[in-house]
Amino acid sequence: MAYRITTECNGCTACVRLCPTGAIAGERKALHAVNPSLCIECGACGRVCPQDAVQDAFGIACRRIPKLSLWPKPVVDAKICVSCRICIEGCPASCLAGRMDGGEKHEIAFLAEPKACISCGFCEADCPVEAIRLVVPEQPAVEVKQS
Ligand code: SF4
Ligand code: SF4
Repeated sequence: MAYRITTECNGCTACVRLCPTGAIAGERKALHAVNPSLCIECGACGRVCPQDAVQDAFGIACRRIPKLSLWPKPVVDAKICVSCRICIEGCPASCLAGRMDGGEKHEIAFLAEPKACISCGFCEADCPVEAIRLVVPEQPAVEVKQS
């Protein structure tokens, strides 16, 4: 089952730019549509849509996460990763890679392209040893001015 765009869509094209499979089509300022045969249900369109115009495969409205910096990102536990590369090969945004890390005897998966990650969670779900968790990145501290 694919995601669906409702008539609330105002054609801003934010989803088109983020969809990793090119599943969304539509003219600027006109209703967009998802091609069900290309949709992999990553949910990126729902997280980015300013109109809350995206429904998931169950017909549930997706919740927008307004700031990209608040989208959860994968954190790999180097002590658990067994270097199977399932997450690296399955990532629809090709943003994971392997590297030798911290004295481990084999390569460890890591988020090589953080800006490309669409927070789909496929890596977390697919890891056979549960070495990956999606975590909201720490935000820089905001300085409070004294009056
Ligand atoms: S759920 Fe993912 S693959 Fe499907 S239309 Fe939205 S962004 Fe594209
Ligand atoms: S959440 Fe994981 S699988 Fe999804 S885009 Fe980010 S790194 Fe790739």
